Amino acid sequence: MNFNRILLLRTSKWLLLSLLTSTLVVSTAVGQETQTETDGYLFHDSHFHLTNYIQEGTDVRDFLEIMGDKVGRSMLCGIPLQQQWMHASTGDFAPTYYTQTDAPLYYYSFTDAAIAMAYRSLTPEERLRFDPMITGFNPTDMYAADHIRRVLMTFPGVFSGIGEFSIHKEFVSSKVAGEVATVNNKALEGILDFAGEVGLPVVFHCDVDMPFPLPNQDPYLVMKLKELFLRHSDTTIIWAHVGLGRVVRPVENQLAMVERMLSNPKMKHVCFDISWDETAKYLVRTPETVKATADLINRYPERFLFGTDSVAPKSQKKYLEPYDIYAPLMAELTPKAKELLFKGNYERIFDQARIRVRAWEKANVLNSAKNQRITPEADTK
Ligand SMILES: [Zn+2]
Repeated sequence: MNFNRILLLRTSKWLLLSLLTSTLVVSTAVGQETQTETDGYLFHDSHFHLTNYIQEGTDVRDFLEIMGDKVGRSMLCGIPLQQQWMHASTGDFAPTYYTQTDAPLYYYSFTDAAIAMAYRSLTPEERLRFDPMITGFNPTDMYAADHIRRVLMTFPGVFSGIGEFSIHKEFVSSKVAGEVATVNNKALEGILDFAGEVGLPVVFHCDVDMPFPLPNQDPYLVMKLKELFLRHSDTTIIWAHVGLGRVVRPVENQLAMVERMLSNPKMKHVCFDISWDETAKYLVRTPETVKATADLINRYPERFLFGTDSVAPKSQKKYLEPYDIYAPLMAELTPKAKELLFKGNYERIFDQARIRVRAWEKANVLNSAKNQRITPEADTK
């Protein structure tokens, strides 16, 4: 059998599997058993960055090789912020990460075009493994939703969701040029409303607290976030890293806070990703934290997603590290919770998104001549 024939056979198997998976998962309501996976993949990656803070990264074909037979599907985003190389600050030293310089970060909208073109460079079969995301908007800008619409119109058939974008992020928020992002910014309301209208799931980064709160300081963000989520019940929101960061520790009774959201019938649209090795270090710190985290996931298995939060990985070994760190947690999960955390929830959310976003595009790109605005017309008289 020649190579092309083998490729064709493998491709049709994948296509068939994908179609089968989509149909089964879409028709599976939350709370029911999903099918038992037989594809052999370890996980689908719900949080992945192809490029870094200076917009350089892994070629998407190399990333496919890195995913190999270990990772089935992945969301695909760049990073919406660009670290400026300010000669006055670092001279000839070229910073590649935001912690290396005091120079500001700025929103880099071209990231969306770069991701779209990377995706389009793949064959139709390869594209089935990716869910590209729109990130290149400024979340304090009332025109942000217009940017998202424009990206969908320019690259129909490509994007599945928006994010990861950040509101409060340790060491990042205060470096971004211009207005600082906040949870109660009206522009954010517009972004989440539009995402809900189109059916774009949102990967949303907002630290649960400040990096170094004083003792007894009120974790005021928790309440604001809860109110924000409640105002957008038509939007699927994936709260990245359960709000944790490099130094942003869990707030007091963090798991109880998360459980209050999970048990609230008005917050079924909110899911949590446990991506990032920095998040893992809190969740698997002791046998007690492992047990408590596993216990919560076992009781609400439809609400958690695994992601690597890997940024422009160079090798499969490095890429899979966050997965490996979670081994103690996996050992405590029920088979159903494990399947949903690593694959089932991704399939449910992103398969649904593909259907809804394509339908929105079909309805809107066709009469796109007007290049409509979402934000209200400003009074220019
Ligand atoms: Zn991330």
